[in-house]
Amino acid sequence: MLVHEMVDYAVFLVDPDGCIASWNEGVARNLGYDEGEFIGLPFRSIFNAEDQAQGADQQELDRARQEGRSDDQRWHVRKDGSQFWCDGVLNALRSETGELLGYSKILRDATARKKAEEELKESRERLEAALSAAHTGTYRWDLATDVLVWDNRLNELFGLMPGQAVQRLEDLFARIHPDDVPAVRESYERCRREGVDFHCEYRVPLASGGMRWVYDRGTLFRAGNGAYMTGAATDTTAHKQAEQERERLLQENARILAEMKAIFASIPDAIYVGDENGIRECNARALEMLGFDTGADLDRSVAVLAREIQTRDARTGQVLTAEMQPFTRALKGEAVTAEVSTRRVDTNEEVIVRCAAAPVRLDGEVIAAVAINTDITAQKAAERRQEQLLAALRRSNEQLTQFAYVVSHDLQAPLRSIRSFTQLLDRRYKGQLDTAADEFIASIVDGATRMEQLIRALLQYAQAGDRNAPRAPVRLAGILDGVLMNLHDILRETGGTVIAESELPTVQGDWFQLLQLFQNLVANALKYRRPGVPPQVRVSAERRAGTWRIAVADNGIGIAPADFEQIFEPLKRLHGREIPGTGIGLSICKKIVDSLGGRLWVESEPGSGATFFFTLPD
Ligand code: ADP
Repeated sequence: MLVHEMVDYAVFLVDPDGCIASWNEGVARNLGYDEGEFIGLPFRSIFNAEDQAQGADQQELDRARQEGRSDDQRWHVRKDGSQFWCDGVLNALRSETGELLGYSKILRDATARKKAEEELKESRERLEAALSAAHTGTYRWDLATDVLVWDNRLNELFGLMPGQAVQRLEDLFARIHPDDVPAVRESYERCRREGVDFHCEYRVPLASGGMRWVYDRGTLFRAGNGAYMTGAATDTTAHKQAEQERERLLQENARILAEMKAIFASIPDAIYVGDENGIRECNARALEMLGFDTGADLDRSVAVLAREIQTRDARTGQVLTAEMQPFTRALKGEAVTAEVSTRRVDTNEEVIVRCAAAPVRLDGEVIAAVAINTDITAQKAAERRQEQLLAALRRSNEQLTQFAYVVSHDLQAPLRSIRSFTQLLDRRYKGQLDTAADEFIASIVDGATRMEQLIRALLQYAQAGDRNAPRAPVRLAGILDGVLMNLHDILRETGGTVIAESELPTVQGDWFQLLQLFQNLVANALKYRRPGVPPQVRVSAERRAGTWRIAVADNGIGIAPADFEQIFEPLKRLHGREIPGTGIGLSICKKIVDSLGGRLWVESEPGSGATFFFTLPD
């Protein structure tokens, strides 16, 4: 009767051969069989295929037979084939003589309990995983016994081996950085005294030499007479380091900002930083350059400023609209350099600035623009003056050359007639007048001849170095051959030699001018020879930084350094009539080299020859 009422339990008998011999309501409820269906079934039919294959049914029976009972938890199979988790006990039934009469089996559906257990296990695992991931360890401290129990994660956090667990509160304090102990102790004390939750942060020096930051919070629980505190401690080292790094970066930024401001203030150029809405930052020089009182004057939209501060292109004079201004262009992403003319807002004076404006980008986006303006008003004025002076000089030079040409040309004819008539006088009346008259006539002829030479030289000078002469490639070796031919007689007379010491290049120039240049230099080298020493002239060429440097060296009388400059001036001579000459040759050479864009100079030591150098562009 009782058995029949135990409807939550399936209770049935199994005969010694393993067949089911009885049934109760609980069987229908748990296993789904009617009485008629159930009785006679083999015991194994309520086991699942896996347990059947392993002989679990027989093992249960064997254990009950041998040991009196078998307690089992396993999956059983209902009539409809579904499975459920069971707690079961199988008892062996014996007669008074000990003969096996059969077995009684009691089982109960424990699926819900197993599920709850599994859920609990799973949630515990989840909690463990979360605590692990959060680098958090938990502990419990019994206030009455001062026993501190903590988990392995706390051990790891404190850098301890599993066996080294902290057992008393004082053990914990011994592991904390001494400077932090008073605050932690106070937190624990307040929690104990007033029952308030506590939280504190402290450092844990590690045996490895490092330092770990720990954030610890706990709650007080009272249970019966006892009280304990339970808490969690989290490793916040990474967070703390990030915080410290952020702090360091902030300080670094503040330092850079201060430096930038100092640079800003000390730079003699005007600096502006801003966007469409106005100039956000500028230095004192910027205000001063444009005649503004305060920075607020500039903090207006760029369009408004553009209207107020009129700007022009300094070169063309074209008015620059807001869109054309360097700052606006920089805000559109362009890097601009320009010379801009503007006017001070206070005095309306013109200020010319060289402006360099560039966009400021953040993640590729233009967020602002920066402009640096250098005041070049004075420099521009000087340049303008210089240009005017140069133009005036060029004009007057041209006029002078023209004048020299006209004068020397026009003087030639009367001079020629003076010389011819005096020669006529000489031929017709020589010996008929007195000796003094003969000498006078000879002096006039001499003077007229010399004057003619001078005028011819002057004419040559006026014509030399024509900058507009067409240029073509000229072989300098060919020029030297021409010079040797022209000077053949004097070379023979003096026993002189001219040698090219290196290969001579081909340069751009005018053939006749280059011949004149070389011929004057070589002729001088032969003319200013040392008495009794056959003249030797060495010509060489050397290439330096895109230009040719030609040298004409001799072994003649040389030139004193004090005269290095003046010998290139027209009509300047270092000698009297004993060495014939007009003093024009070197000045012609200089005009020619100048016109070709080169430079002519001399190096010498008196008594040991002179070397004339000139450069010619490639
Ligand atoms: P000129 O030879 O007609 O006097 P130049 O203009 O050619 O005029 O030379 C100017 C002066 O430079 C010469 O009078 C001479 O004193 C000096 N001079 C020129 N070339 C040489 C040289 N190779 N050696 C020494 N003195 C020289």
